[in-house]
Amino acid sequence: MTTSDSCTFCRIASGESEAAIVYEDETVLAFRDIRPAAPTHILIIPRQHVGSVDEVTAADGGLLTKMVAAASEIARRAGVRQSGYRLVINTGPDGGQTVFHLHLHLLAGRHMNWPPG
Ligand code: AMP
Ligand code: ZN
Repeated sequence: MTTSDSCTFCRIASGESEAAIVYEDETVLAFRDIRPAAPTHILIIPRQHVGSVDEVTAADGGLLTKMVAAASEIARRAGVRQSGYRLVINTGPDGGQTVFHLHLHLLAGRHMNWPPG
């Protein structure tokens, strides 16, 4: 499995760094964002290092589908599936990406505005 010692989220995936993990399976891991932007703010990552959604290819075996399916299960467990939630993937400088290991933000627990900032 591809990992990077210098990557914050790879260190969480390997257990080297601590995180408040809320869900895990063989492909993905999910933990609470350290700077929550909503009452529920969870990051869903692939265990394998992928730099951004721009690097996802058909050869990744449905990686994004697995991440979205995990998000739905996490929303159910957090009790926000009925009230709703927002999934966000920031990509590159203009997209606001700050950690270069693919992650899906799950935001919930308040009404989300549109357009985003
Ligand atoms: P993005 O700006 O889309 O790349 O999102 C990166 C997110 O990771 C931000 O919301 C950060 O608050 C969050 N973050 C960074 N380091 C950690 C960490 N060690 N544990 C949990 N969340 C983190
Ligand atoms: Zn990584």
